[in-house]
Amino acid sequence: MILVLKRGATEHQKEELIKHIEGMGLKAHVSVGEGTTIIGLVGDTSKLSSFTFSSYEIVDNVLRVTEPFKQANRMFKPDDTIIDVCGRKVGQGYFVVISGPCSVESEEQIVGIARELKKAGASFLRGGAYKPRTSPYSFQGLGLEGLDYLKTAKQETGLPIVSEIMSTDVLDRFIEDVDIIQVGARNMQNFVLLRELGRTNKPILLKRGLSATYQEWLMSAEYILSEGNKNVILCERGIRTFENYTRNTLDISAVLAIKKLSHLPVIVDPSHGSGKPWMVGPLSKAAVACGADGVIIEVHNNPKCALSDGEQSITPEQYAEILPKIKKYVEIEDKQLEV
Ligand code: PEP
Ligand code: MN
Repeated sequence: MILVLKRGATEHQKEELIKHIEGMGLKAHVSVGEGTTIIGLVGDTSKLSSFTFSSYEIVDNVLRVTEPFKQANRMFKPDDTIIDVCGRKVGQGYFVVISGPCSVESEEQIVGIARELKKAGASFLRGGAYKPRTSPYSFQGLGLEGLDYLKTAKQETGLPIVSEIMSTDVLDRFIEDVDIIQVGARNMQNFVLLRELGRTNKPILLKRGLSATYQEWLMSAEYILSEGNKNVILCERGIRTFENYTRNTLDISAVLAIKKLSHLPVIVDPSHGSGKPWMVGPLSKAAVACGADGVIIEVHNNPKCALSDGEQSITPEQYAEILPKIKKYVEIEDKQLEV
């Protein structure tokens, strides 16, 4: 349930109302926008009558949120969420380019790529230290050693780090060393992990599950938000369809749908979304045109020898060619590239 307050409601009147809400065992989620203040009621409101609150003088309107996602819902917070990560803004009006190899393979590799990305213009460095592989015999990532190398790459270039977490036993190290913690598609519904991340205040990049609906995806975001962490960034990375020419089918309309349903930032992963390096540039431009807040692109110095996802990775040279084009599109959208 949502209470839209009248302009001019005093702090004292708001406090009284919030006290009433909390006295009913509910949480009051206050969102102050331009000109309007909204109070979202979190908890079981199914048996509540809207008259309970419409009698308050300061309440202009009482709305029911029919969707099961509440805090992720745009009705709860009409203004776009902007998340500040190491001085770079993610969300409305800003555009970020996260790039780097699928896996961290050595210190030399990650530092070398990071330097090239920094030179070409990147907002964040990505690199997997823990890899969710289909086969247990495939390269599983360097683990904590990989995080050490990412830290070195950050020291050398100043690029903040994005890396995927797979288990809560290394959460302390991720909180220490990683700037945006990625939850991969395969863990989108690992609710234990999501709850645990919700108890931190780290920015979380929540990728869409392989066959998740928008609602399921937003409910996963809700797990993080409901524990108190409001720093959630969503990432469309392609879904499973009958089409097998591409690795996945990039659902570009997801950006538009999620932006309508939610206030959370949304970015696009054209690398996993297509599996084809030659699609990465055009799909990135499509992402900008659809209102995405950023892209995450896999870049490898030697894709043929990459230990994971080499077939979809672009080279630093290709990246340096693509980036100025993305930048032009970002300018057309009146957004600022955060580098
Ligand atoms: C990745 O980013 O390398 C990755 C494994 O992504 P996803 O979870 O989207 O498959
Ligand atoms: Mn990958």
